[in-house]
Amino acid sequence: MHIESKQPHIGTTIFTVMSKLAADHGALNLSQGFPNFDGSPKLIELVSYYLQKGMNQYAPLSGVQALREIIAQKTADIYGVNYHPDSEITVVSGATEALYAAITAIVHQGDEVILLEPNYDSYEPAIRLNGGVPVYVTLVPENNYQIDWQIVKSKVTEKTKLIMLNTPHNPTGTVLKQQDLTALAEIVKDTNIFIISDEVYEHIIFDGKEHWSPIRNTILQERTFVCGSFGKTFHVTGWKVGYCLAPKALTEEFRKVHQWLTFSTVTPIQYALADFLKEPDNYLSIPAFYQQKRDKFISCISNARFSFTPAQGSFFQCVNYSAITDENDLALAQRLTKEIGVASIPVSVFYHQKNDFKILRFCFAKDDQTLEKAGERLSKL
Ligand code: PMP
Ligand code: GLN
Repeated sequence: MHIESKQPHIGTTIFTVMSKLAADHGALNLSQGFPNFDGSPKLIELVSYYLQKGMNQYAPLSGVQALREIIAQKTADIYGVNYHPDSEITVVSGATEALYAAITAIVHQGDEVILLEPNYDSYEPAIRLNGGVPVYVTLVPENNYQIDWQIVKSKVTEKTKLIMLNTPHNPTGTVLKQQDLTALAEIVKDTNIFIISDEVYEHIIFDGKEHWSPIRNTILQERTFVCGSFGKTFHVTGWKVGYCLAPKALTEEFRKVHQWLTFSTVTPIQYALADFLKEPDNYLSIPAFYQQKRDKFISCISNARFSFTPAQGSFFQCVNYSAITDENDLALAQRLTKEIGVASIPVSVFYHQKNDFKILRFCFAKDDQTLEKAGERLSKL
């Protein structure tokens, strides 16, 4: 049989490649973004409670009512924006599904989608599989990946259908500011351009910074699909439960795709999350928790010959290694995994032309001992 590939240039995602290399070489895995510690025992108990209680059949297509209601309340409490649980909030199987469903709901053949690169690796394939055409705005480490909105504006054509945002940002650890939203609103007002805002690190934000979701700007809110994930917030990336917030008309189209992708999302975990979210401290404590991890990692690499700007959010610290070697970042990430036993992600993979700015991304969502050991090894370079 011959199968004609729909993605001939796509291999296996770098996260799987580097995690396997780390496992093969017994390396400390600071590559793929996941915590090496468990979620709250209380949350895990709640899941087993609902499993035992028999909440084991299909959840509603849109998600368990109690979970949609508490997401609505939390969003209103924090950002002052109201989403109706029945018609504007959908629970899905991870942010990856939310992103895919939102892209599929909006992008038609030939539509242009503006991507700010470096960008998370699932966006571009989802756009292309839907016949969309990515249009890139390249952000660079020299100015800490600041967005020049004049350049974004210059990329807008009558074919522009969508702009993808991600704050806090993977891989760079930067966050959007209120002025960014104002500048973007100026560009898209009076157009039919949609926004997908990937906010999986919403609660992983540091130094007292605020999370500037585009929903906090009314011009942006009416056109935005927010993609969230509980995996990051509650240290349970393997559960793959996320959600999408979007105004009613957008949600209707989103759900039409979601019903054919997964139909509904794992039931007992939704009930457990609904209960857990009733206690705001369970998410309000997360920024301080991860800021301590970031600071720990930074202190562990203080003797390494890296230069960097501390991450403002996410669970990633990017570092420039050009004082150590002129190897390309992919070669170095592989060599460090094999030779010193520390795995990372080369940031070039997040650029469509694989621009090599000599930057590695390290995940600091790890216990202190792992961060210390990694720091010792990296300091010898
Ligand atoms: N977006 C970003 C920026 C991510 O880092 C991740 C990471 N895992 C996802 C989306 C996917 O989230 P989920 O695991 O909930 O599918
Ligand atoms: N988001 C995670 C990262 O950036 C990985 C998720 C995945 O492996 N698909 O490392």
